[in-house]
Amino acid sequence: MTTVTEEDLKSLFARLAEAMTREKDRLCELDGVIGDADHGIAMELGFAAAAKAVSELDATTADPTLVFNTAAKSFLNAVGASSGPLYATALMRAGASAKGKTSLNDDDMVEIFAAFAKGIQDRGKAEVGEKTMVDAWAPAAAACRAARDQGLPLAACLAAALEAAQAGAEATKDMIAAKGRSSRLGERTLGHMDPGAASAVVMISCFHIHFTS
Ligand code: ADP
Ligand code: MG
Repeated sequence: MTTVTEEDLKSLFARLAEAMTREKDRLCELDGVIGDADHGIAMELGFAAAAKAVSELDATTADPTLVFNTAAKSFLNAVGASSGPLYATALMRAGASAKGKTSLNDDDMVEIFAAFAKGIQDRGKAEVGEKTMVDAWAPAAAACRAARDQGLPLAACLAAALEAAQAGAEATKDMIAAKGRSSRLGERTLGHMDPGAASAVVMISCFHIHFTS
């Protein structure tokens, strides 16, 4: 059984920030095709701000909920693009899901993953098939929970989530954007991966690596 502490979460945010810096250009390029080319910048700024803010929390008093809530607030403040409120809501939901716990076990982490994904859907009102990050997050959360229901450990649940997210992101190439900025392009979005779905895969692969090693 995994035991995730607020320290583990702080280093997860540092990992997410590093990954977004690495992937910034690719994400901006994807957004350049069907959006306004800023998605990589938004994700880098958001996670850099979140990682910095959580690293400054007092380790003697911070709990997982405070880490998620602090990350949410700084992500929102740093990001003007639509991914700002979407991920801020997701992070707040993660914080609510962790409420009252000083450390998190496999079941808690799977619940947090599900709450995070649901937060994105509640905030943005996108359904699967509308060519958004939901096309990666929703199947990933479902796969994560299904794996846990079969009794698999967290690392295997996150491996299943990653595989589902990758398939979901790939599937956005065959979709016409129905939500957000790229919906204005209609059929011209066909053939291109949604940038938000691509960054969701980056995030989920960070979760997977973080809780496997
Ligand atoms: P903006 O479109 O404001 O420039 P970003 O470039 O940061 O914001 O993010 C674009 C991504 O946001 C899209 O690729 C899509 O995945 C996601 N997105 C946009 N609108 C929604 C929504 N209503 N629900 C879920 N995701 C959305
Ligand atoms: Mg954009």
